[in-house]
Amino acid sequence: MPELPEVETIARGLDKRVTGDTVESVWIGSRQQPLKSRASVIAATLEGKRILRVHRAGKHIVFDLEADTRRAPAPTRKISRAGRGPTRQSPSLQPIDSETAQWIVHLGMTGRMVVCEPGAEIAKHTHLIAKLASGRELRFIDPRMFGKLSVHSGGFDPGGVEPLDVSAEEFVALFRGRKTPIKSALLNQKLLRGVGNIYADESLFRAGIRPRRRTSTITREQLGKLHRAVREVLREAIALGGSSISDYVDADGEEGFFQLQHRVYGREGAPCLACGTAIRRVVLGGRSSHYCAKCQK
Ligand SMILES: [Zn+2]
Repeated sequence: MPELPEVETIARGLDKRVTGDTVESVWIGSRQQPLKSRASVIAATLEGKRILRVHRAGKHIVFDLEADTRRAPAPTRKISRAGRGPTRQSPSLQPIDSETAQWIVHLGMTGRMVVCEPGAEIAKHTHLIAKLASGRELRFIDPRMFGKLSVHSGGFDPGGVEPLDVSAEEFVALFRGRKTPIKSALLNQKLLRGVGNIYADESLFRAGIRPRRRTSTITREQLGKLHRAVREVLREAIALGGSSISDYVDADGEEGFFQLQHRVYGREGAPCLACGTAIRRVVLGGRSSHYCAKCQK
């Protein structure tokens, strides 16, 4: 499942490849699960729009769109007729034609975005194909369909604070006094957005804090250390991801991400890289947590 660093890497790769290009037409498959806006609305919102920028918000990929002025302007909306109220149309049925429209892609578990030549074989489980003015295609493929496609009128905000932007003070204020285990708090997307299981375990190891430790018992100083650890782990993973970007976004969609060497995650029973103690695994809120009982308190 792509976590924040992977999504960042993919968004950067897409930004490099498709920014400045214009969506000429959109094909959307018949499966409804990945569509969080209506297919007709997604298509109408994307078609004729230039891609201004691709970036990440939490674990979402955000395409900022701009109406292509070379095309005829969209017809103006119906205004209320005399003696009747405004024409009632559900807003969800309207294409989003604002100047700040955004296309939001969440990759879920198995979602992939592929930029390819139009002749490239269409992979099974392709749910959307956007034909670009450059002649290439942008495709969304997702076998398990936990991914989500939607359009917004702008200023998309998935909630929570961006972990790479959060200041030490903000970080401490977010977590201080919480009753839940720190691992659960780190995974709570309403606090920090985009931190997943792997990077939470790795950050806690670097900060020397056990996953089950109740957040309210963690000192301000330790929270400061955790703040630095979270940012460090995510930044390192993004730096590594940069080298494998093409594998992920390009035609064959290889899923091989060059990963940060995990110090605890997935290393149950293996010796701690710092002290040699066997790494332990506990299940917390249905998720595996890995830690060193000697290095983490
Ligand atoms: Zn250790």
